[in-house]
Amino acid sequence: MSELALHTDPDCLFCKIVAGKIPSRMVYQDDELYAFHDIHPWAPVHFLLIPKQHIASMAQLTDAHAAMMGRMMVLVPKLALLEGCNPYPAGGFRMLSNTGAEGGQEVHHLHIHVMGGPRPWLRG
Ligand code: AMP
Ligand code: ZN
Repeated sequence: MSELALHTDPDCLFCKIVAGKIPSRMVYQDDELYAFHDIHPWAPVHFLLIPKQHIASMAQLTDAHAAMMGRMMVLVPKLALLEGCNPYPAGGFRMLSNTGAEGGQEVHHLHIHVMGGPRPWLRG
């Protein structure tokens, strides 16, 4: 996907991070995905994986997003290991995507939390 074709929201925190207007500690990027460390980590490893295009939440997904979401799922275990999560089954990771107010979503740009590392964790 070309950068020009990306739908972005100028008021969105994570769109600003993708655009480099707000600093972040990058974990990974490609044409359509970006990953960066959560600013308030719950666990020894805690990063967020997001689409570069603005999608408010999981609730806005359509069939057109299926391939991209599949790529995100396949990327999660690879990035988790690279970021220091211990291998399955003794290690592993937790992934979650808060969706909507009742789902606990605070930033309305679709994101997957990936957490791991030795317990105890601050939360989760
Ligand atoms: P959620 O409640 O699922 O919407 O989570 C939003 C997450 O974004 C929280 O875990 C925040 O700590 C994280 N966050 C907010 N601002 C930033 C930022 N500037 N850089 C990195 N992570 C952030
Ligand atoms: Zn956005």
